[in-house]
Amino acid sequence: MKLVFATNNAHKLEELKKMLGTPFELLSLKDIDFLEEIPEDQDTLEGNASQKSHYLYNRATLNCFADDTGLEVEALNNEPGVYSARYAGPQRNAEDNMNMVLEKMAEIKNRNARFRTVISLIIDGEEFQFEGVVEGEILTERQGAEGFGYDPIFKPHGYNQSFAEMDMQQKNAISHRGRAVQKLVEFLKARYQ
Ligand code: IMP
Repeated sequence: MKLVFATNNAHKLEELKKMLGTPFELLSLKDIDFLEEIPEDQDTLEGNASQKSHYLYNRATLNCFADDTGLEVEALNNEPGVYSARYAGPQRNAEDNMNMVLEKMAEIKNRNARFRTVISLIIDGEEFQFEGVVEGEILTERQGAEGFGYDPIFKPHGYNQSFAEMDMQQKNAISHRGRAVQKLVEFLKARYQ
């Protein structure tokens, strides 16, 4: 079954391909020559995921899904949340974003945080949403060099390593996106097998 993932992020596509497996053929926007910029200007993860999947479905008329992820830091009123990619400014720089979080957290004892992913799937015009969450804490300094985004400053509860110290397989098994995709895969398998 062909499914378009509303992304051009090679890292995310690779992660997801490993998790989806057969019989699904996962296609990126590039794979279907979709060059338009997809709007995402809602103020919730649910709203953004839904806006992106609907936009793509209406233009490309292919079954598809879109995701939106945020880092939610308890002591920062769940910031950066939906603004995670551009927390420190429009340059969307991961180092700047991490510095911003570390600076804001400098005097704060409550380090609780979570990554949350929402996937919006559209099959034949009908929408389904899946949520994945991983609870953890914000470290006081960067640890590790794998992954992307806020990985070096996020340590999931119950583990001694940050996300950036785990290999992709380890991270996928417990990550927000991994959990959301797992729900997506279970749904698709139950429906199509
Ligand atoms: P997106 O919705 O997947 O594009 O994620 C928005 C932003 O959240 C990214 O630009 C990253 O800053 C951050 N982010 C998303 N997923 C992860 C992750 O797995 N690790 C670290 N940061 C992430």
